[in-house]
Amino acid sequence: MNLTKNYPPIMASDEELRAALEAAHVPSLMNALVHVSGDISHIRGDIRPVAALFQDPQGGISREDQARGRAIAFEVLKAYRDGGSQIPPRPSDDAIEEMTDYIIGEGVPRDYKQFLHAELRIDGQDPYAHPSFDGIPEQVRQDFHVVIIGAGMSGLLAAIRLDQEHIPYTIIEKNSEAGGTWWQNQYPGCRVDNQNHIYSYSFEPYDWPYWYSNRQVLFEYFNHCADKYGIRPKIRFNTAVDSARFDESTGRWTVTVRPKGGAPEEIVASAVISAVGQLNRPRLPAIIGRESFEGVAFHSGEWRHDVDLTGKRVGVVGTGASAFQFVPEIAQQASEVVIFQRTPPWMGPQPIYRQPIPEGKHWLLKHVPFYYEWYRFALFWRSSEGMLKSVTVDPEWTEPGSVSRANQLMRQTMTAYITRELQDAPDILAHAIPDYPPGGKRMVVDDGNWLRALKRDNVRVVVDPIAAITPTGITTQGGQAEAFDVIVYATGFQASNFLMPMDVYGRDGVELHDRWAGTARAYKGITIPGYPNLFMLYGPNTNIVVNGSTIFFAECEMRYVMGCIHMLLSQGKAAMDVRREVHDAYNEWIDQGNALKAWGTFGVTSWYKNTDGHVTQNWPFTLLEFWTQTREPDPGDYEFIEARVPVG
Ligand code: NAP
Repeated sequence: MNLTKNYPPIMASDEELRAALEAAHVPSLMNALVHVSGDISHIRGDIRPVAALFQDPQGGISREDQARGRAIAFEVLKAYRDGGSQIPPRPSDDAIEEMTDYIIGEGVPRDYKQFLHAELRIDGQDPYAHPSFDGIPEQVRQDFHVVIIGAGMSGLLAAIRLDQEHIPYTIIEKNSEAGGTWWQNQYPGCRVDNQNHIYSYSFEPYDWPYWYSNRQVLFEYFNHCADKYGIRPKIRFNTAVDSARFDESTGRWTVTVRPKGGAPEEIVASAVISAVGQLNRPRLPAIIGRESFEGVAFHSGEWRHDVDLTGKRVGVVGTGASAFQFVPEIAQQASEVVIFQRTPPWMGPQPIYRQPIPEGKHWLLKHVPFYYEWYRFALFWRSSEGMLKSVTVDPEWTEPGSVSRANQLMRQTMTAYITRELQDAPDILAHAIPDYPPGGKRMVVDDGNWLRALKRDNVRVVVDPIAAITPTGITTQGGQAEAFDVIVYATGFQASNFLMPMDVYGRDGVELHDRWAGTARAYKGITIPGYPNLFMLYGPNTNIVVNGSTIFFAECEMRYVMGCIHMLLSQGKAAMDVRREVHDAYNEWIDQGNALKAWGTFGVTSWYKNTDGHVTQNWPFTLLEFWTQTREPDPGDYEFIEARVPVG
């Protein structure tokens, strides 16, 4: 894809221009001015972001300097407008490098240069696409049929990339709609906690209405992509995959699918791409008496819109990211909300979390050449490696509740925030500071909504552990009995049970879950020894806690998968199977990395770990490392399989 953008000419009046500039991210704006004017001196003055203050929304640029930057921008954009909106030739590579250094406030580390330049996409390139399938005959591509499981963010991406290279595929989707987690999670208040200009496909920018959009907007975005790229006709909705079986003689998979209410069918596939996500199979807690409750009970991921909560007494089990978002919403309806908290969450303050993007910002993103690109780039950098250091274990560190000095500083900052917000509610504050280190579990993004909700008269937090669920409600170990009309389980998903409930049989006929024996593993999160041409997206150890977005990971993974398919087709091989020793060495390295992260430390429990305490979900290293790992498959990592029986 050529992603070169056309910018509509600026027609705004002086007044409109001035108003729009008020919403500017000044560092991105100054770089855009270099494109618009061809004059690098705009970034050589004293209006400069400060590296140490990069997390500041304006990169640490003072208010006065921001105003000066806007005044300069006004003159430059006015001249650009009056000159017919002609964009000068692109700045030189050296200038782009200087602009990159400028926006992050320091010299870009050398090993990051290529990675960041690709992410910036200044020349309209498509850095996550495989470079070229040009030499591969059309018929060879057409003979390679792929089954993609899941039509969520990763599955749609897989389809878009395969389509680009004319490789046929079918998507099998268990739900009646595309959108994956954004279709499934319909609880009130559901929204993304990664800023949307990076939580979006690199090749598909969007006019986001919010900085962090709600579930409906995300659902619409992914459906827009499904339509724009012509994916929808190739999705088989309401169809589940029962099993997949590899046939060594043909090098192909037989995938057994079951349309809702219909008979099983078999599809033969050259490759299977699993894009089933990690967070869609609800996990209901094993609490005594759960089945005995006589009111209505449901899981946050299977929200019952038919149940009107107005005036109801509602019990909520769990205080993770889902509860954090829906409790403030339902508290406005229910007569009473009682939250059963086992562990409080760490929260990072973000005042714009639920705010719409102002009009001026929409205008800038659309009209000012390269403003969008630099803005996305600034966000990408800000959310990339910065926080990783703060969750890395210092083996010498002995203070409880933190894993290093930087982690302790993070703890102090968030503790101060929670304490300030709850200074008028000491009873709630007494149970609101987590004792595990920040980064041990998923941190939630907060604009004060959650803590405000906890202070409402109709909301209570119960910290006494649950003893049982009874026909009328919940009783605690201390003997407290609470009666409810409705219980909502915000108890998370069966994330570490990758690919369940499918049965997947590999080369030796062994079922994958039996092989894994409770600990899912894969090479780069993508390939598994003994299961040739089965490629996982968002597989084991590809989840992130504090840096980047899952879409970045999916794009890297899919580029790697396209590299694998390219290798198969160009070498005329039927299938490729990752070598066990390569896979094992890789996973040892991953384990060592996770042991040195806050979420891997002893005593911290979360969905990142399986029941054995093994971190099956998370990527413990930098984004640069994952990008580098997934640029190109190494043929030496794989054993190639020739088809013995002609495929007919
Ligand atoms: P979760 O993070 O796994 O939280 C589950 C909650 O239920 C925890 O508070 C847990 O307590 C509690 N719990 C589990 N079993 C329990 C039991 N038997 N008794 C009492 N409490 C119990 O689940 P989630 O909130 O659905 O979030 C899952 C993941 O989805 C998040 O980490 C995030 O990655 C993603 N998510 C993202 C967003 C977003 O982008 N905005 C929103 C929602 C979800 P303990 O902590 O003590 O185990």
